[in-house]
Amino acid sequence: MKELKPIIIPEHYNYIATFLTLACNLKCSYCINHFGKDGFVNKRLSGEEWVQGINRIKSRYDLPITLQGGEPSLHKDFIYILNNIKPELNIDILTNLQFDINEFIAKVDPNRIKRNAPYASIRVSYHPEQMELLPLVEKVLRMQDAGFSIGIWGVLHPSQEDVIRKAQEYCQGRGIDFRFKEFLGEYDGKLYGTFKYEGSCDRKFEKKVLCKTTELIAGSDGSIYRCHSDLYEGRTPVGNLIDPNFELEDIYRVCEVFGHCNPCDVKVKTNRFQQYGHTSVDIKEVTPA
Ligand code: SF4
Ligand code: SF4
Repeated sequence: MKELKPIIIPEHYNYIATFLTLACNLKCSYCINHFGKDGFVNKRLSGEEWVQGINRIKSRYDLPITLQGGEPSLHKDFIYILNNIKPELNIDILTNLQFDINEFIAKVDPNRIKRNAPYASIRVSYHPEQMELLPLVEKVLRMQDAGFSIGIWGVLHPSQEDVIRKAQEYCQGRGIDFRFKEFLGEYDGKLYGTFKYEGSCDRKFEKKVLCKTTELIAGSDGSIYRCHSDLYEGRTPVGNLIDPNFELEDIYRVCEVFGHCNPCDVKVKTNRFQQYGHTSVDIKEVTPA
């Protein structure tokens, strides 16, 4: 492969997401990947391509590469990718932990996925409608004993609040860091989440705006997208992680589909310093010429 130009992450960026695959071995009814129209590409970069693409990124200590999905461990080269990312890049993983942890513990150095941060580097999602708590807890404890920085996150879905709160109590009692995630999406005809731009997720209109992100979002075939909505709905990407000439442009881009944003992009949330009030994208009205 030709030499790839470095991708320099702008100082104000808050997140680097690599969606190794959007496939998942679970089917949660509230999965945010399916919030809009499903249109994502199924093609996957090989492990080698991911490593080449990721290793051209120049980031900071406090801005890791997050391996996620779907379920990232479904990528056949998941462990190869993890073990071949250059040491200057920190790594976080979002997973449902439905993989073989024996193999993981045997092949991955826990110090490789660890840094000084206010939250665990391996963030396990607990989905009561799809998994049992006790086996999950045992797996997390084994990973923790093996030295991994790991915690569990539960979505405060309105139909599952009690179960999630009880799970937190139980996990805390067993020495596991268990945190809540706000539910984003629709339930019983109501849209949950705190969004900065009115109507942005209602899918009731399409409006032309200017939009600029603070996140690098790479889909499973390496495509780089303006936002999560573009990724999940398969809109035209702005580049590709393994295109040798790709350069990250920190600019406002015209978007014709404001109103079909994904909650992940426009929700008011905490940034990587765990400070509240951050939104992934900044949206401006288009001023008539
Ligand atoms: S585990 Fe995560 S990615 Fe998989 S279906 Fe559930 S919410 Fe979606
Ligand atoms: S306006 Fe919404 S859909 Fe358009 S690029 Fe921004 S976040 Fe994505």
